[in-house]
Amino acid sequence: MPRALMLHDEAPRCRIADLAPSDLPHRAVSVDIDYSDLNYKDALAVTGKGKIVRDYPFVPGIDFAGTVRESHHEQYASGDRVILTGWGVGERYWGGYAETMNVDAEWLVPCPGPLSTRKAMLLGTAGLTAMLCVVRLEEARIAPGARVLVTGASGGVGSWAVSILHHLGYEVHAVTGKTEQRAWLKALGAHAIHDRADYEAEPRPLEKGRWAGAIDTVGGRTLANVLAQMDYDGRVAAVGLAGGTALSTTVMPFILRGVSLLGTDSVMIPFDRRRAAWQRLSALPNGLFERMAVDEISLAQIEERAETMLTGKLHGRVLIDPR
Ligand code: NDP
Repeated sequence: MPRALMLHDEAPRCRIADLAPSDLPHRAVSVDIDYSDLNYKDALAVTGKGKIVRDYPFVPGIDFAGTVRESHHEQYASGDRVILTGWGVGERYWGGYAETMNVDAEWLVPCPGPLSTRKAMLLGTAGLTAMLCVVRLEEARIAPGARVLVTGASGGVGSWAVSILHHLGYEVHAVTGKTEQRAWLKALGAHAIHDRADYEAEPRPLEKGRWAGAIDTVGGRTLANVLAQMDYDGRVAAVGLAGGTALSTTVMPFILRGVSLLGTDSVMIPFDRRRAAWQRLSALPNGLFERMAVDEISLAQIEERAETMLTGKLHGRVLIDPR
């Protein structure tokens, strides 16, 4: 009887349930889940504060890593270690906050050899997304040594972006609202820390150019301020909305400095690109994983952590052990 966190559209919204195997969706690959994690989108789904889930009852969790229990698809066999992120899992399809879940083979990526399933979810959607942002900057010819700004730096995507960029040799500047996490961000490799409040101010069309590249996880006014501070030919990977979905800016950074805004998505990114990103992530040295802040919780603790995440008070990663 796999245990799961079930969402309902009447109170109490979150309930721990024992599901019969026949309750699970009829999909080709059954995975015993070792770890899931908590992402911003999960927090919106679990609390109901974002319109992520529409059909109830529902098992949330946009990503997981585990071991194939049973497969009716030629690509996978019992015992294979796999990772799932995106594709609408945890939004439209039952997700990872369960001991076992049945999923489509096309949604899975083989877990690369050097990566344990725990490390895979220490990265999770956040680490994958950070790497996809780095790839977007690389493809736009931003190279090691360049000065790159990361906003929402203490969050999941932000902290992995700081770690990975530093590891690759970039000069990383971190924007955070958490004075108490400055030392930790420096330990991850941030060259300098900047105050979130400065990026929440009313943006000007252009400021002194400071950054060759940027990874923005916040959106809203923060993204408008980042655009105004880009160097000539600067590249901004826009990936998040933790500070708002609206973007009010001018064309000045684009037409006077040739700045490019590079949208970055992890949900529908094709298989080959996500597999390549996971290969690169699997080659990261252990030290990066050891320095990542991790809060390991059970299914029963997810609701409380989700509420806290939406207030922007968490840092690093929340790992979920469903057993
Ligand atoms: P986290 O909650 O872990 O991180 C968000 C961070 O943003 C916070 O820790 C905080 O960092 C900062 N922040 C700034 N303003 C606010 C605010 N008003 N409220 C809350 N936080 C704020 O989230 P994730 O790292 O999981 O996700 C970050 C963003 O990226 C989210 O918007 C998410 O939806 C998006 N995302 C997009 C993906 C895609 O495929 N496009 C994939 C994954 C995530 P600090 O205190 O350091 O400023």
